[in-house]
Amino acid sequence: MGFDGSEDVLGYWGRNVVEDYHNTLLKKLPSLTAQLSGVKGGNKPPQQPFRLLGSNLRVGQSPPQLPRLPYDGHDHDGQAPPQLPGHRSGRRAAPKVGILGAGVGGLYTALMLDSLDIKYEILEASDRTGGRLFTHKFEDGGKYDYYDVGAMRYPLPKKDENGKYKSGVMKRLGELIEYSKLNDGLAVPLRDTIIDYYYQARTGGTFKYFNSERYQVPLENPDPPNFRAREMGVESEYITAGVDNIAADIVIPFARMIMEDVGLDTNMGKGWDLMMQNDAYSLRAYMSFKYIPSVDLKLPPSHLNTNTINWCETFDKSTGWYDRALTEQVLEALAFARVGSSTFGEIEWKCFDGGSHVLADYMTKYIRSTTEDPNALIRTNKSVKSISQATNGMEVSTWDGSATTYSHVISTIPLPCMRTIDLSAAGLNVMQTTALRKLQYGPSVKVGIRFKTTWWTTRFGIVGGQSFTDLPVRTVVYPSYGVDSDTPSTVLIASYCWTNDAERLGSLISTGKEEYNEQLKELVLRNLADVHGMPYSDLVDEFVEMHAWDWNHDPLTGGAFAFFGPGDFQDLYTSLTAPNANKRLHFAGEAISTRHAWVVGALDSAWRAVFEYLLSSGQHDRIEEFFRLWGTNVEWAQLPTEPPTEDGSGGFDPEDHLLGVHMRYTYAAELTGDIKF
Ligand SMILES: Cc1cc2nc3c(=O)[nH]c(=O)nc-3n(C[C@H](O)[C@H](O)[C@H](O)COP(=O)(O)OP(=O)(O)OC[C@H]3O[C@@H](n4cnc5c(N)ncnc54)[C@H](O)[C@@H]3O)c2cc1C
Repeated sequence: MGFDGSEDVLGYWGRNVVEDYHNTLLKKLPSLTAQLSGVKGGNKPPQQPFRLLGSNLRVGQSPPQLPRLPYDGHDHDGQAPPQLPGHRSGRRAAPKVGILGAGVGGLYTALMLDSLDIKYEILEASDRTGGRLFTHKFEDGGKYDYYDVGAMRYPLPKKDENGKYKSGVMKRLGELIEYSKLNDGLAVPLRDTIIDYYYQARTGGTFKYFNSERYQVPLENPDPPNFRAREMGVESEYITAGVDNIAADIVIPFARMIMEDVGLDTNMGKGWDLMMQNDAYSLRAYMSFKYIPSVDLKLPPSHLNTNTINWCETFDKSTGWYDRALTEQVLEALAFARVGSSTFGEIEWKCFDGGSHVLADYMTKYIRSTTEDPNALIRTNKSVKSISQATNGMEVSTWDGSATTYSHVISTIPLPCMRTIDLSAAGLNVMQTTALRKLQYGPSVKVGIRFKTTWWTTRFGIVGGQSFTDLPVRTVVYPSYGVDSDTPSTVLIASYCWTNDAERLGSLISTGKEEYNEQLKELVLRNLADVHGMPYSDLVDEFVEMHAWDWNHDPLTGGAFAFFGPGDFQDLYTSLTAPNANKRLHFAGEAISTRHAWVVGALDSAWRAVFEYLLSSGQHDRIEEFFRLWGTNVEWAQLPTEPPTEDGSGGFDPEDHLLGVHMRYTYAAELTGDIKF
């Protein structure tokens, strides 16, 4: 496998995380088989010891016998679940599934259940769908006078000669964009709303402004100054090597080796081992205590000092970013297919014409079109107050005083918000509640300003791309949409901040008070003037209106997206990818994915949650269809090891896919008392 990003390398990564966890559990379950024989009903006759293709069990370990999953309606005694009213053609008509949250993860869950003819309803706290697909349209503005407050750009894989998206990290999003229900017969099919996103400017020179020095970056052969790096305490040889090359030198070896693991029998090759040896490091700690520059950088063979690390962080990311996990940097590089000035992977940056909310609008419209009452399936202004186990289901109560019992619940509520919901009777185990508590979310703010004209284009020729600075606004994003229209966008993302920078600017946004709004406006305009080297008064004259958003203080997200600290991801990913005690509460949402902080992460987690629901409810007959309609995933689904026999039996046991195995492992640990609910 080459280093071209064409495989879903993050999928393989996730599989390794899960299989490594199984190896840990395996050590704790030596007496599993003996104990299971004493379990009531024995969970059907013991299965053949399972074997998975590519199973990562280390040499010398024998695969355990795992219990079958306890299904809906079973009391673990192997009886078939009762037939429910409405049963037809051999299928149980499943009672309603409750989907919590109508962001892209919740809407995608609904599309999947709809395609399988499974009843559901969505409870959404706000008065709109889309969640972090949130496009703010300036009311009196023109067609393109909007900005994406949340997700805005997508590194989609390229298409093949048949117009199908190739493999890659964002493939599932590409396939959703192509989904027939969002395209066929529509005046404007969803796929036609996809336009180019100019991650780097299409024309003109964007700016870098650091330590009061300004540089306009030419499209070709940029040669920026060092922005007074010596005064930041950085030695000249590091300045000569450059931030981009040092950042790439740290991350690329990991990324390259992880890519090289893909396709190995186990996928747990040198890349995985190397990453795990360093998983406890933050990026800063790794640079301070472990990293030795490569010879070709011509730097001293020693770790980096704090001044050099601070300098790298300032120019490479945002303040405090390097305190997060080293592993996060590597995974992000693999998703972006980019590290410093090095790019790899066949991706194309795209966005939605009309803003990212277009995607949510299409999904919502289709879902509403499937019933006579457009509000029946998506119930807005329904803020979840508590989730608890009930007889044959999960009860969900909302702040308006109503309560409903669902056969199963798939929650896509952002995990920080789950901490504000009463889960005391939801049947979570200690690792699950711990994961909810300690998950690190990344703060982020955006400030959109509508101006009278597109001054960045008329004055500097800038179309698309971004400018960077150490001033409080940190990143300025120029619109990629409407750039060839008669009414180009006059809206600039005047500030896009993360981590500590977002926390500071956010303090001016979150109170909602007019006095701080004024302060924010002046600060942002002054920063823009400095970055672009133009008079502040010109920008005051150009100013029309401002809209700012602080995701950290949004009670419906509790942060912008998952941004893990060292070692965080493993615990969260292994504990929240299995259901609660009665196997009827399933966790989804962006954070529970190797592609967290991306829309595709929300989609992947929703796919896994639906698969998990089908397994938990014993609807094995629907799983092949589910795979056919919604694809599989290298993390959770693998081909059966044994081909079907001539009489057509065998060959496909959904519980032998990794997700089924994972659920059986955790269930086995529950039976032996290693996991307690
Ligand atoms: C600033 C920013 C920039 C981003 N940039 C990109 C990008 O460029 N590309 C990309 O791919 N991704 C990006 N992302 C990430 C992407 O937006 C998310 O990963 C994705 O939208 C998350 O979808 P979700 O369904 O998991 O969560 P959400 O969209 O947050 O949906 C969760 C829903 O749950 C609802 N809810 C919350 N509490 C309750 C409750 N108590 N009861 C009922 N409902 C509740 C919320 O209102 C919300 O509608 C960005 C995110 C942010 C914030």
